[in-house]
Amino acid sequence: MIQTTDGIILRKQNLRETSVILTLFTKDFGKMQGVMKGARGPKAAMGNNPEMFSLNNVVFYERKRGNLNSISQCDLKDFFDPIRSDLERTVYADYFLELVDAVMMEGDTSEDIYNLLLNSLKFISKPVSPKRVARIFEIKLMEMSGFLPELNNCILCNKEVEGDGNFSLRSGGILCRACEAEDKSGVRLSKGTINFIERVRKSSFEMVSRLKVSQDVGKELELFLRKFVDYHLQRPLKTVEFLKKINL
Ligand SMILES: [Zn+2]
Repeated sequence: MIQTTDGIILRKQNLRETSVILTLFTKDFGKMQGVMKGARGPKAAMGNNPEMFSLNNVVFYERKRGNLNSISQCDLKDFFDPIRSDLERTVYADYFLELVDAVMMEGDTSEDIYNLLLNSLKFISKPVSPKRVARIFEIKLMEMSGFLPELNNCILCNKEVEGDGNFSLRSGGILCRACEAEDKSGVRLSKGTINFIERVRKSSFEMVSRLKVSQDVGKELELFLRKFVDYHLQRPLKTVEFLKKINL
């Protein structure tokens, strides 16, 4: 059956001389893969060269499960130009793609995650801190994937956590003062950081992108989310290694 949808290109692999295999996160079909013939080489039509993290309208022939779809058209809708002329923004955008690719299986659909990815690419194209966009993206993606537990009550005794807490990756939640000895490897979360996470998960991207974050909260958040995301992925992301290398 012929289908059409909007999709963001997550991955592109060359196939033989003139074809590519595209991995997309689409609005209506979630994560999907398809072969696009004639997308490379001297005979490739102008404008028929799909690029990473671009938004496209895709026309494809849907195959049965286990077979690659066949993409006949991939019309560019947004190229996110400002991302491409700035190394830091490019690496963060690649990181968003890699993270979505890692948490979503082929065939998984989520319009929320599609909109999140699209919004993150739009925001990181603006003159805002790419780091802040990355933190919001991580919190919202973890929330939408069902990984992020609520942070107001202790995961072990259910008492309300007042003030700072310790996040236990092993227990999958926050520990109150009385319980924090249960996991000495817990990650410290100050009240300010907990409040920020709670606000991000409940508010729109637009709203939280304007929130000011103190340097301390920013650093704590980065450390926590790095450990939290790594724990749930169980394999290192290439973009994270690269971000470390170039010290971003
Ligand atoms: Zn407790």
